[in-house]
Amino acid sequence: MRIRVLPRRVDPPFDLREIVDWLGIELVYSRLPPSVRGFYLRSGTIAAILINSSDSGVVARWTLAHELAHHLNDLTSDAAAAAAMLTDTHDDRWETACEHLAAELLMPEAAIRRLIGAPKPGIPAFRNIEIRDFAYLFEVSSSAMRHRLQAMGYHIAGDAGGKRRL
Ligand SMILES: [Zn+2]
Repeated sequence: MRIRVLPRRVDPPFDLREIVDWLGIELVYSRLPPSVRGFYLRSGTIAAILINSSDSGVVARWTLAHELAHHLNDLTSDAAAAAAMLTDTHDDRWETACEHLAAELLMPEAAIRRLIGAPKPGIPAFRNIEIRDFAYLFEVSSSAMRHRLQAMGYHIAGDAGGKRRL
């Protein structure tokens, strides 16, 4: 029996394609309508992620993380709860859960803490230029990194403060 070990890179940027491949998900870059970033399909044990081939860089990367999150949430959620959520008035909670997981996949809390330490309340920790550097390092957009840092409780210079969710 072949033992499969999940590839884990300890430093950013994290290559989610390795995880997608390890999970046996078919990854397809395809021409899609401009308004569609990508989507996730699963039928039994067969799963596929489609990414709009006209997107690139951090946009395509976020889409991949989001669709991978759909797969992981799909597999790990209680089927009845998932079905109830999807048949609810809207599936915003499901989408929000996938956005949270996408953020964690691309910008793991542990990796950020290892690099910059724990947030110190009230002390402005980051300026926009530094957020851009971190965004570059993790290969995400500056706005995604800003939201992530705020959600983790880091204070951004010039912000009124307060914890934001992503
Ligand atoms: Zn989604």
